[in-house]
Amino acid sequence: MRNYLKHFINGEWVESTGSETMDVINPATEKVAGRISLGTLEDLDHAVQAAREAIPTFSTTSREERIQMLEAISDEYEKRKDDFVDAITEELGSPRSLSENVHYSMGLNHFRETARLLKDFSFTEKRGDTTIIKEAVGVSGLITPWNFPTNQTSTKIAGAFAAGSPVVLKPAEITPFAAVILAEVFEAAGVPKGVFNLVNGTGEVIGNGISSHPDIDLVSFTGSSAVGQKVMENAAKTIKKVALELGGKSPLIVLEDADLKEAAKIAVSNVVMNTGQVCTAATRTLVPKAMHDDFIEAVKAVLPRFPVGDPNGKNFVGPLVAQKQWDRVQSYIQKGIDEGATLVAGGPGKPEGLETGYFVKPTVFTNVKNDMVIAREEIFGPVMSIITYETLDEAIAIANDTEYGLAGYIVGKDEGTINKVASSIRAGQIRVNKAQTDFSAPFGGYKKSGIGREWGDFGIEEYLEVKAVLGMSS
Ligand code: NAD
Repeated sequence: MRNYLKHFINGEWVESTGSETMDVINPATEKVAGRISLGTLEDLDHAVQAAREAIPTFSTTSREERIQMLEAISDEYEKRKDDFVDAITEELGSPRSLSENVHYSMGLNHFRETARLLKDFSFTEKRGDTTIIKEAVGVSGLITPWNFPTNQTSTKIAGAFAAGSPVVLKPAEITPFAAVILAEVFEAAGVPKGVFNLVNGTGEVIGNGISSHPDIDLVSFTGSSAVGQKVMENAAKTIKKVALELGGKSPLIVLEDADLKEAAKIAVSNVVMNTGQVCTAATRTLVPKAMHDDFIEAVKAVLPRFPVGDPNGKNFVGPLVAQKQWDRVQSYIQKGIDEGATLVAGGPGKPEGLETGYFVKPTVFTNVKNDMVIAREEIFGPVMSIITYETLDEAIAIANDTEYGLAGYIVGKDEGTINKVASSIRAGQIRVNKAQTDFSAPFGGYKKSGIGREWGDFGIEEYLEVKAVLGMSS
Protein backbone atom coordinates (compact mmCIF):
# COMPACT_ATOMS: atom_id res chain seq x y z
CA MET A 1 0.00 0.00 0.00
CA ARG A 2 1.57 3.26 -1.14
CA ASN A 3 0.83 6.41 0.81
CA TYR A 4 1.81 9.22 -1.53
CA LEU A 5 0.17 11.99 0.43
CA LYS A 6 2.59 14.83 -0.22
CA HIS A 7 3.08 17.17 -3.15
CA PHE A 8 6.55 18.15 -4.35
CA ILE A 9 6.79 21.94 -4.32
CA ASN A 10 9.88 24.18 -4.38
CA GLY A 11 12.24 21.24 -3.89
CA GLU A 12 10.41 19.80 -0.88
CA TRP A 13 7.77 17.18 -0.12
CA VAL A 14 4.94 19.13 1.48
CA GLU A 15 1.59 18.31 3.06
CA SER A 16 -1.49 19.25 1.10
CA THR A 17 -3.33 22.30 2.37
CA GLY A 18 -6.52 20.27 2.01
CA SER A 19 -7.52 17.02 3.66
CA GLU A 20 -9.10 15.12 0.77
CA THR A 21 -7.44 11.91 -0.37
CA MET A 22 -8.16 9.42 -3.13
CA ASP A 23 -7.62 5.67 -3.30
CA VAL A 24 -5.70 4.34 -6.28
CA ILE A 25 -7.05 0.99 -7.47
CA ASN A 26 -4.99 -1.85 -8.93
CA PRO A 27 -7.05 -2.71 -12.02
CA ALA A 28 -5.97 -6.36 -12.05
CA THR A 29 -7.08 -7.07 -8.47
CA GLU A 30 -9.64 -4.27 -7.93
CA LYS A 31 -7.91 -3.70 -4.57
CA VAL A 32 -6.60 -0.42 -3.21
CA ALA A 33 -2.92 -0.09 -4.13
CA GLY A 34 -2.28 3.31 -2.60
CA ARG A 35 -3.55 6.76 -1.75
CA ILE A 36 -2.81 10.28 -2.88
CA SER A 37 -3.79 13.69 -1.56
CA LEU A 38 -6.07 15.68 -3.78
CA GLY A 39 -4.40 19.05 -4.08
CA THR A 40 -6.14 22.40 -3.63
CA LEU A 41 -5.89 25.64 -5.56
CA GLU A 42 -3.72 26.92 -2.71
CA ASP A 43 -1.28 24.04 -3.31
CA LEU A 44 -1.28 24.91 -7.00
CA ASP A 45 -0.59 28.58 -6.25
CA HIS A 46 2.43 27.60 -4.13
CA ALA A 47 3.75 25.43 -6.95
CA VAL A 48 3.24 28.12 -9.59
CA GLN A 49 4.92 30.71 -7.38
CA ALA A 50 7.92 28.40 -6.85
CA ALA A 51 8.18 27.83 -10.59
CA ARG A 52 7.97 31.57 -11.31
CA GLU A 53 10.72 32.29 -8.83
CA ALA A 54 12.90 29.71 -10.54
CA ILE A 55 12.63 31.40 -13.95
CA PRO A 56 15.42 34.01 -13.73
CA THR A 57 18.06 31.46 -12.75
CA PHE A 58 16.86 28.41 -14.63
CA SER A 59 16.05 30.13 -17.93
CA THR A 60 19.58 31.57 -18.05
CA THR A 61 21.44 28.34 -17.32
CA SER A 62 23.81 27.34 -20.09
CA ARG A 63 22.99 24.66 -22.62
CA GLU A 64 25.81 22.61 -21.07
CA GLU A 65 24.29 22.84 -17.60
CA ARG A 66 20.92 21.66 -18.88
CA ILE A 67 22.50 18.80 -20.83
CA GLN A 68 24.26 17.71 -17.64
CA MET A 69 20.99 17.97 -15.74
CA LEU A 70 19.15 15.80 -18.29
CA GLU A 71 21.96 13.27 -18.21
CA ALA A 72 21.93 13.17 -14.40
CA ILE A 73 18.16 12.66 -14.54
CA SER A 74 18.61 9.79 -17.02
CA ASP A 75 21.16 8.13 -14.74
CA GLU A 76 18.96 8.45 -11.65
CA TYR A 77 15.95 7.28 -13.67
CA GLU A 78 17.80 4.12 -14.63
CA LYS A 79 18.57 3.39 -10.98
CA ARG A 80 14.82 3.33 -10.25
CA LYS A 81 13.91 0.83 -12.97
CA ASP A 82 12.38 -1.79 -10.66
CA ASP A 83 10.36 0.84 -8.82
CA PHE A 84 8.93 2.24 -12.05
CA VAL A 85 8.07 -1.24 -13.33
CA ASP A 86 6.36 -2.19 -10.04
CA ALA A 87 4.44 1.08 -9.84
CA ILE A 88 3.19 1.06 -13.42
CA THR A 89 2.18 -2.59 -13.20
CA GLU A 90 0.20 -1.79 -10.05
CA GLU A 91 -1.48 1.41 -11.13
CA LEU A 92 -2.14 0.65 -14.80
CA GLY A 93 -2.33 -3.15 -14.74
CA SER A 94 0.21 -3.25 -17.52
CA PRO A 95 2.03 -6.61 -17.92
CA ARG A 96 5.48 -6.40 -16.35
CA SER A 97 7.30 -6.89 -19.66
CA LEU A 98 5.36 -3.96 -21.13
CA SER A 99 5.91 -1.85 -18.01
CA GLU A 100 9.63 -2.40 -18.50
CA ASN A 101 10.10 -2.47 -22.27
CA VAL A 102 7.61 0.21 -23.18
CA HIS A 103 6.62 2.41 -20.22
CA TYR A 104 9.87 2.56 -18.26
CA SER A 105 11.97 2.68 -21.38
CA MET A 106 10.00 5.38 -23.16
CA GLY A 107 10.48 7.76 -20.24
CA LEU A 108 14.22 7.09 -20.18
CA ASN A 109 14.54 7.49 -23.95
CA HIS A 110 12.89 10.90 -23.84
CA PHE A 111 15.44 12.21 -21.32
CA ARG A 112 18.42 10.65 -23.10
CA GLU A 113 17.34 11.69 -26.58
CA THR A 114 16.47 15.24 -25.55
CA ALA A 115 19.89 15.59 -23.90
CA ARG A 116 21.53 14.36 -27.11
CA LEU A 117 19.55 16.69 -29.38
CA LEU A 118 20.09 19.66 -27.08
CA LYS A 119 23.81 19.50 -27.92
CA ASP A 120 23.14 20.75 -31.45
CA PHE A 121 19.93 22.67 -30.84
CA SER A 122 20.06 26.15 -32.29
CA PHE A 123 18.90 28.85 -29.88
CA THR A 124 20.11 31.79 -31.99
CA GLU A 125 20.17 32.47 -35.68
CA LYS A 126 21.66 35.42 -37.60
CA ARG A 127 19.82 36.78 -40.64
CA GLY A 128 21.78 39.84 -41.80
CA ASP A 129 21.46 42.47 -39.06
CA THR A 130 18.72 40.54 -37.35
CA THR A 131 19.29 38.01 -34.61
CA ILE A 132 16.59 35.50 -33.83
CA ILE A 133 16.73 34.21 -30.28
CA LYS A 134 14.76 31.38 -28.74
CA GLU A 135 14.08 31.83 -25.03
CA ALA A 136 12.34 29.79 -22.35
CA VAL A 137 8.59 30.28 -22.48
CA GLY A 138 8.31 30.41 -18.68
CA VAL A 139 6.13 28.45 -16.24
CA SER A 140 4.73 25.41 -18.01
CA GLY A 141 1.68 23.64 -16.63
CA LEU A 142 1.57 19.99 -17.63
CA ILE A 143 -1.55 17.83 -17.47
CA THR A 144 -1.13 14.17 -18.35
CA PRO A 145 -3.38 11.10 -18.83
CA TRP A 146 -3.23 7.65 -17.25
CA ASN A 147 -2.41 5.44 -20.22
CA PHE A 148 1.37 6.05 -20.38
CA PRO A 149 2.37 7.26 -16.91
CA THR A 150 6.06 7.83 -17.73
CA ASN A 151 5.99 8.56 -21.46
CA GLN A 152 3.78 11.62 -21.46
CA THR A 153 5.22 13.16 -18.31
CA SER A 154 8.81 12.58 -19.44
CA THR A 155 8.47 13.89 -22.98
CA LYS A 156 6.94 17.13 -21.71
CA ILE A 157 9.38 17.57 -18.82
CA ALA A 158 12.44 16.78 -20.95
CA GLY A 159 11.40 19.39 -23.54
CA ALA A 160 10.66 22.02 -20.89
CA PHE A 161 13.92 21.41 -19.00
CA ALA A 162 15.95 21.53 -22.21
CA ALA A 163 14.34 24.88 -23.00
CA GLY A 164 14.95 26.26 -19.49
CA SER A 165 11.26 26.38 -18.51
CA PRO A 166 10.20 25.34 -14.97
CA VAL A 167 7.16 23.09 -14.72
CA VAL A 168 4.13 22.29 -12.61
CA LEU A 169 2.89 18.76 -13.29
CA LYS A 170 -0.52 17.29 -12.59
CA PRO A 171 -0.52 13.61 -13.54
CA ALA A 172 -3.70 11.57 -13.98
CA GLU A 173 -5.16 10.94 -10.55
CA ILE A 174 -5.86 7.27 -11.27
CA THR A 175 -2.21 6.49 -12.14
CA PRO A 176 -0.16 8.89 -10.01
CA PHE A 177 2.57 6.54 -8.69
CA ALA A 178 5.12 6.84 -11.49
CA ALA A 179 5.06 10.64 -11.26
CA VAL A 180 5.97 10.48 -7.56
CA ILE A 181 8.97 8.28 -8.40
CA LEU A 182 9.86 10.71 -11.17
CA ALA A 183 9.86 13.56 -8.64
CA GLU A 184 12.23 11.49 -6.47
CA VAL A 185 14.45 11.02 -9.52
CA PHE A 186 14.62 14.79 -10.06
CA GLU A 187 15.41 15.30 -6.39
CA ALA A 188 18.25 12.78 -6.57
CA ALA A 189 19.53 14.32 -9.81
CA GLY A 190 19.81 17.74 -8.15
CA VAL A 191 17.19 19.55 -10.21
CA PRO A 192 17.17 23.06 -8.69
CA LYS A 193 14.29 23.93 -6.37
CA GLY A 194 11.17 25.28 -8.05
CA VAL A 195 12.14 23.89 -11.45
CA PHE A 196 9.97 20.81 -11.00
CA ASN A 197 6.74 20.86 -9.00
CA LEU A 198 4.22 18.05 -8.64
CA VAL A 199 0.67 18.68 -7.47
CA ASN A 200 -1.60 15.66 -7.40
CA GLY A 201 -5.31 16.16 -7.78
CA THR A 202 -8.38 16.03 -9.94
CA GLY A 203 -8.85 17.47 -13.40
CA GLU A 204 -11.76 19.49 -12.12
CA VAL A 205 -9.65 21.33 -9.50
CA ILE A 206 -5.95 21.19 -10.42
CA GLY A 207 -6.40 20.64 -14.17
CA ASN A 208 -8.80 23.55 -14.47
CA GLY A 209 -6.60 25.52 -12.08
CA ILE A 210 -3.59 25.07 -14.38
CA SER A 211 -5.37 25.94 -17.61
CA SER A 212 -6.80 29.13 -16.14
CA HIS A 213 -3.88 30.22 -13.93
CA PRO A 214 -2.73 33.78 -14.74
CA ASP A 215 0.90 33.02 -13.80
CA ILE A 216 1.28 29.97 -16.02
CA ASP A 217 2.68 30.84 -19.45
CA LEU A 218 1.96 27.61 -21.29
CA VAL A 219 -0.30 24.65 -20.73
CA SER A 220 0.59 21.33 -22.31
CA PHE A 221 -2.23 18.82 -22.12
CA THR A 222 -2.44 15.19 -23.18
CA GLY A 223 -5.78 13.49 -22.87
CA SER A 224 -9.21 13.29 -24.40
CA SER A 225 -10.38 15.72 -27.07
CA ALA A 226 -13.35 16.79 -24.92
CA VAL A 227 -11.12 17.88 -22.04
CA GLY A 228 -8.58 19.33 -24.49
CA GLN A 229 -11.27 21.65 -25.75
CA LYS A 230 -12.02 22.82 -22.19
CA VAL A 231 -8.32 23.41 -21.56
CA MET A 232 -8.13 25.58 -24.67
CA GLU A 233 -11.24 27.55 -23.71
CA ASN A 234 -9.85 28.18 -20.25
CA ALA A 235 -6.42 29.10 -21.58
CA ALA A 236 -7.98 31.64 -23.92
CA LYS A 237 -8.97 33.79 -20.94
CA THR A 238 -5.32 34.51 -20.11
CA ILE A 239 -4.00 34.03 -23.69
CA LYS A 240 -1.75 31.18 -22.63
CA LYS A 241 0.17 29.15 -25.12
CA VAL A 242 -1.53 25.82 -25.60
CA ALA A 243 -0.15 22.45 -26.67
CA LEU A 244 -2.65 19.60 -27.04
CA GLU A 245 -2.07 15.90 -27.65
CA LEU A 246 -5.52 14.39 -28.00
CA GLY A 247 -7.30 11.31 -29.28
CA GLY A 248 -7.11 9.30 -32.47
CA LYS A 249 -8.88 6.81 -34.72
CA SER A 250 -5.93 5.81 -36.80
CA PRO A 251 -6.10 3.76 -39.99
CA LEU A 252 -3.82 0.85 -40.87
CA ILE A 253 -3.84 0.25 -44.63
CA VAL A 254 -2.92 -3.24 -45.78
CA LEU A 255 -1.71 -2.90 -49.37
CA GLU A 256 -2.35 -5.46 -52.10
CA ASP A 257 1.25 -6.70 -52.07
CA ALA A 258 1.41 -7.12 -48.29
CA ASP A 259 2.37 -10.39 -46.65
CA LEU A 260 -0.95 -11.16 -44.95
CA LYS A 261 0.51 -13.02 -41.98
CA GLU A 262 2.87 -10.14 -41.32
CA ALA A 263 0.08 -7.61 -41.77
CA ALA A 264 -2.21 -9.48 -39.36
CA LYS A 265 0.55 -9.62 -36.75
CA ILE A 266 1.32 -5.90 -37.04
CA ALA A 267 -2.40 -5.00 -36.94
CA VAL A 268 -3.27 -7.21 -33.96
CA SER A 269 -0.21 -6.37 -31.87
CA ASN A 270 -0.86 -2.67 -32.42
CA VAL A 271 -4.49 -2.84 -31.37
CA VAL A 272 -3.98 -4.97 -28.23
CA MET A 273 -0.82 -3.22 -26.98
CA ASN A 274 -1.46 -1.57 -23.59
CA THR A 275 -4.93 -3.18 -23.78
CA GLY A 276 -5.77 -0.83 -26.63
CA GLN A 277 -5.35 2.21 -24.39
CA VAL A 278 -3.12 3.97 -26.89
CA CYS A 279 -3.94 7.24 -28.60
CA THR A 280 -2.13 6.11 -31.77
CA ALA A 281 -3.79 2.66 -31.86
CA ALA A 282 -4.53 1.48 -35.39
CA THR A 283 -8.18 0.77 -34.72
CA ARG A 284 -9.42 0.88 -38.32
CA THR A 285 -7.83 -1.83 -40.45
CA LEU A 286 -8.34 -1.25 -44.17
CA VAL A 287 -7.98 -4.41 -46.28
CA PRO A 288 -8.38 -5.00 -50.04
CA LYS A 289 -11.75 -6.69 -50.58
CA ALA A 290 -10.18 -9.61 -52.46
CA MET A 291 -7.88 -10.35 -49.49
CA HIS A 292 -10.54 -10.07 -46.80
CA ASP A 293 -11.21 -13.75 -46.05
CA ASP A 294 -7.52 -14.68 -45.94
CA PHE A 295 -6.81 -11.69 -43.72
CA ILE A 296 -9.52 -12.77 -41.25
CA GLU A 297 -7.94 -16.24 -41.07
CA ALA A 298 -4.52 -14.68 -40.47
CA VAL A 299 -5.95 -12.47 -37.68
CA LYS A 300 -7.60 -15.46 -35.99
CA ALA A 301 -4.36 -17.39 -36.19
CA VAL A 302 -2.29 -14.62 -34.63
CA LEU A 303 -4.64 -13.58 -31.78
CA PRO A 304 -3.68 -16.44 -29.38
CA ARG A 305 -0.12 -15.09 -29.43
CA PHE A 306 -1.34 -12.16 -27.33
CA PRO A 307 -2.74 -13.77 -24.18
CA VAL A 308 -4.85 -11.80 -21.71
CA GLY A 309 -4.37 -12.18 -17.97
CA ASP A 310 -2.47 -11.40 -14.78
CA PRO A 311 0.05 -8.61 -15.43
CA ASN A 312 2.49 -10.46 -13.19
CA GLY A 313 2.26 -13.57 -15.38
CA LYS A 314 3.51 -14.09 -18.91
CA ASN A 315 0.67 -12.22 -20.59
CA PHE A 316 0.68 -9.58 -23.29
CA VAL A 317 -2.65 -7.96 -22.45
CA GLY A 318 -3.57 -6.77 -18.95
CA PRO A 319 -6.85 -5.30 -17.72
CA LEU A 320 -8.27 -1.93 -18.67
CA VAL A 321 -7.36 0.77 -16.18
CA ALA A 322 -10.71 1.19 -14.42
CA GLN A 323 -14.31 0.03 -14.16
CA LYS A 324 -15.38 3.18 -16.03
CA GLN A 325 -13.17 2.24 -18.98
CA TRP A 326 -14.44 -1.36 -18.86
CA ASP A 327 -18.04 -0.12 -19.08
CA ARG A 328 -17.12 2.22 -21.91
CA VAL A 329 -15.40 -0.50 -23.96
CA GLN A 330 -18.28 -2.94 -23.35
CA SER A 331 -20.78 -0.38 -24.57
CA TYR A 332 -18.80 0.09 -27.80
CA ILE A 333 -18.57 -3.68 -28.35
CA GLN A 334 -22.35 -3.91 -27.94
CA LYS A 335 -22.77 -0.92 -30.25
CA GLY A 336 -20.73 -2.68 -32.94
CA ILE A 337 -22.99 -5.74 -32.68
CA ASP A 338 -26.11 -3.56 -32.75
CA GLU A 339 -24.84 -1.67 -35.77
CA GLY A 340 -24.54 -4.92 -37.71
CA ALA A 341 -20.76 -5.41 -37.78
CA THR A 342 -19.66 -9.07 -37.77
CA LEU A 343 -17.82 -10.35 -34.71
CA VAL A 344 -14.70 -12.28 -35.70
CA ALA A 345 -13.20 -12.69 -32.23
CA GLY A 346 -13.82 -11.59 -28.66
CA GLY A 347 -17.10 -9.87 -27.84
CA PRO A 348 -18.89 -8.73 -24.70
CA GLY A 349 -18.01 -9.79 -21.15
CA LYS A 350 -14.83 -10.86 -19.39
CA PRO A 351 -12.47 -13.53 -20.71
CA GLU A 352 -13.06 -16.92 -19.11
CA GLY A 353 -11.43 -17.30 -15.70
CA LEU A 354 -10.76 -13.57 -15.33
CA GLU A 355 -13.78 -12.46 -13.34
CA THR A 356 -11.78 -10.20 -11.00
CA GLY A 357 -10.06 -7.25 -12.64
CA TYR A 358 -11.16 -5.07 -15.54
CA PHE A 359 -10.22 -7.60 -18.21
CA VAL A 360 -11.77 -7.53 -21.68
CA LYS A 361 -11.59 -9.87 -24.66
CA PRO A 362 -9.52 -8.57 -27.55
CA THR A 363 -12.28 -8.03 -30.07
CA VAL A 364 -12.25 -7.96 -33.87
CA PHE A 365 -15.16 -6.78 -35.99
CA THR A 366 -15.41 -7.08 -39.74
CA ASN A 367 -17.93 -5.81 -42.31
CA VAL A 368 -17.49 -2.45 -40.60
CA LYS A 369 -18.60 0.65 -42.49
CA ASN A 370 -16.64 3.81 -41.83
CA ASP A 371 -19.78 5.65 -40.75
CA MET A 372 -20.48 3.23 -37.89
CA VAL A 373 -19.86 4.54 -34.37
CA ILE A 374 -17.16 1.92 -33.77
CA ALA A 375 -15.24 3.31 -36.76
CA ARG A 376 -15.68 6.94 -35.79
CA GLU A 377 -15.22 7.19 -32.04
CA GLU A 378 -12.16 6.44 -29.98
CA ILE A 379 -12.94 3.27 -28.00
CA PHE A 380 -9.68 3.12 -26.04
CA GLY A 381 -9.75 -0.66 -25.71
CA PRO A 382 -8.50 -3.65 -27.76
CA VAL A 383 -11.15 -3.43 -30.46
CA MET A 384 -10.29 -3.65 -34.16
CA SER A 385 -12.65 -2.67 -36.96
CA ILE A 386 -11.91 -4.22 -40.35
CA ILE A 387 -13.11 -2.22 -43.36
CA THR A 388 -12.65 -3.39 -46.95
CA TYR A 389 -11.68 -1.25 -49.94
CA GLU A 390 -11.49 -1.79 -53.71
CA THR A 391 -9.09 0.89 -54.91
CA LEU A 392 -6.16 2.69 -53.30
CA ASP A 393 -7.93 6.03 -53.69
CA GLU A 394 -10.89 4.60 -51.79
CA ALA A 395 -8.56 3.38 -49.02
CA ILE A 396 -7.02 6.85 -48.72
CA ALA A 397 -10.45 8.48 -48.66
CA ILE A 398 -11.63 6.15 -45.88
CA ALA A 399 -8.39 6.68 -43.95
CA ASN A 400 -8.94 10.44 -44.03
CA ASP A 401 -12.66 10.28 -43.33
CA THR A 402 -12.22 10.92 -39.61
CA GLU A 403 -12.12 13.97 -37.38
CA TYR A 404 -8.80 12.75 -35.99
CA GLY A 405 -5.30 12.81 -37.50
CA LEU A 406 -2.79 11.42 -35.04
CA ALA A 407 -1.24 8.44 -36.84
CA GLY A 408 -1.46 6.19 -39.88
CA TYR A 409 0.02 2.78 -40.66
CA ILE A 410 0.93 1.18 -43.98
CA VAL A 411 1.80 -2.47 -44.52
CA GLY A 412 3.03 -3.46 -47.97
CA LYS A 413 6.05 -3.62 -50.28
CA ASP A 414 5.89 -1.27 -53.25
CA GLU A 415 7.77 1.90 -52.33
CA GLY A 416 5.91 4.12 -54.79
CA THR A 417 2.54 3.07 -53.37
CA ILE A 418 3.77 3.43 -49.80
CA ASN A 419 5.04 6.95 -50.53
CA LYS A 420 1.76 7.91 -52.17
CA VAL A 421 -0.27 6.67 -49.21
CA ALA A 422 2.12 8.20 -46.65
CA SER A 423 1.85 11.61 -48.25
CA SER A 424 -1.94 11.37 -48.60
CA ILE A 425 -2.86 10.49 -45.02
CA ARG A 426 -3.63 13.62 -42.99
CA ALA A 427 -1.94 12.61 -39.75
CA GLY A 428 1.12 13.58 -37.71
CA GLN A 429 2.96 10.28 -37.76
CA ILE A 430 2.97 7.52 -40.39
CA ARG A 431 4.51 4.15 -39.66
CA VAL A 432 5.50 1.82 -42.46
CA ASN A 433 5.60 -1.95 -41.83
CA LYS A 434 7.52 -2.77 -38.64
CA ALA A 435 8.90 0.74 -38.12
CA GLN A 436 10.73 1.14 -34.82
CA THR A 437 9.93 4.00 -32.44
CA ASP A 438 12.10 7.03 -33.13
CA PHE A 439 12.43 9.31 -30.11
CA SER A 440 13.71 12.16 -32.25
CA ALA A 441 10.71 12.07 -34.59
CA PRO A 442 8.02 14.70 -33.94
CA PHE A 443 4.82 13.41 -32.39
CA GLY A 444 1.44 15.12 -32.52
CA GLY A 445 -1.80 15.41 -34.37
CA TYR A 446 -3.57 17.01 -37.30
CA LYS A 447 -7.23 18.00 -37.02
CA LYS A 448 -8.90 17.18 -33.68
CA SER A 449 -5.90 15.12 -32.57
CA GLY A 450 -4.19 18.21 -31.28
CA ILE A 451 -1.97 21.23 -31.61
CA GLY A 452 1.82 21.23 -31.49
CA ARG A 453 4.50 18.56 -31.53
CA GLU A 454 6.37 16.72 -28.79
CA TRP A 455 9.46 14.45 -28.66
CA GLY A 456 13.07 15.34 -29.46
CA ASP A 457 13.95 18.78 -30.80
CA PHE A 458 10.32 19.52 -31.72
CA GLY A 459 9.53 18.94 -28.05
CA ILE A 460 12.15 21.54 -27.06
CA GLU A 461 10.65 24.10 -29.48
CA GLU A 462 7.30 23.74 -27.73
CA TYR A 463 8.71 25.34 -24.55
CA LEU A 464 10.42 28.29 -26.23
CA GLU A 465 9.42 31.81 -27.23
CA VAL A 466 10.96 33.47 -30.28
CA LYS A 467 12.48 36.93 -30.13
CA ALA A 468 13.86 38.97 -33.04
CA VAL A 469 16.54 41.59 -32.33
CA LEU A 470 16.93 43.94 -35.28
CA GLY A 471 19.81 46.22 -36.15
CA MET A 472 22.62 44.48 -34.27
CA SER A 473 25.35 43.79 -36.80
CA SER A 474 27.82 41.78 -34.69
P1 NAD B 1 -8.83 12.81 -19.79
O1 NAD B 1 -8.96 13.88 -20.79
O2 NAD B 1 -10.02 12.38 -19.05
O3 NAD B 1 -7.76 13.19 -18.66
C1 NAD B 1 -6.45 13.62 -18.97
C2 NAD B 1 -5.95 14.48 -17.86
O4 NAD B 1 -6.75 15.65 -17.81
C3 NAD B 1 -6.03 13.86 -16.46
O5 NAD B 1 -4.90 14.26 -15.73
C4 NAD B 1 -7.28 14.50 -15.89
O6 NAD B 1 -7.27 14.58 -14.48
C5 NAD B 1 -7.22 15.87 -16.50
N1 NAD B 1 -8.50 16.58 -16.58
C6 NAD B 1 -9.76 16.07 -16.50
N2 NAD B 1 -10.66 17.07 -16.58
C7 NAD B 1 -9.96 18.23 -16.72
C8 NAD B 1 -10.33 19.58 -16.87
N3 NAD B 1 -11.59 19.97 -16.88
N4 NAD B 1 -9.35 20.49 -17.03
C9 NAD B 1 -8.05 20.13 -17.06
N5 NAD B 1 -7.64 18.86 -16.89
C10 NAD B 1 -8.58 17.91 -16.73
O7 NAD B 1 -8.15 11.65 -20.58
P2 NAD B 1 -7.77 10.22 -20.04
O8 NAD B 1 -9.04 9.45 -19.96
O9 NAD B 1 -6.90 10.31 -18.85
O10 NAD B 1 -6.85 9.69 -21.24
C11 NAD B 1 -7.36 9.11 -22.36
C12 NAD B 1 -7.39 10.09 -23.52
O11 NAD B 1 -6.11 10.66 -23.73
C13 NAD B 1 -7.73 9.41 -24.84
O12 NAD B 1 -8.65 10.20 -25.55
C14 NAD B 1 -6.41 9.37 -25.58
O13 NAD B 1 -6.48 9.31 -26.95
C15 NAD B 1 -5.76 10.60 -25.12
N6 NAD B 1 -4.31 10.48 -25.26
C16 NAD B 1 -3.68 11.20 -26.22
C17 NAD B 1 -2.32 11.08 -26.40
C18 NAD B 1 -1.60 11.87 -27.43
O14 NAD B 1 -0.40 12.04 -27.30
N7 NAD B 1 -2.25 12.39 -28.44
C19 NAD B 1 -1.59 10.24 -25.59
C20 NAD B 1 -2.26 9.51 -24.62
C21 NAD B 1 -3.63 9.66 -24.45
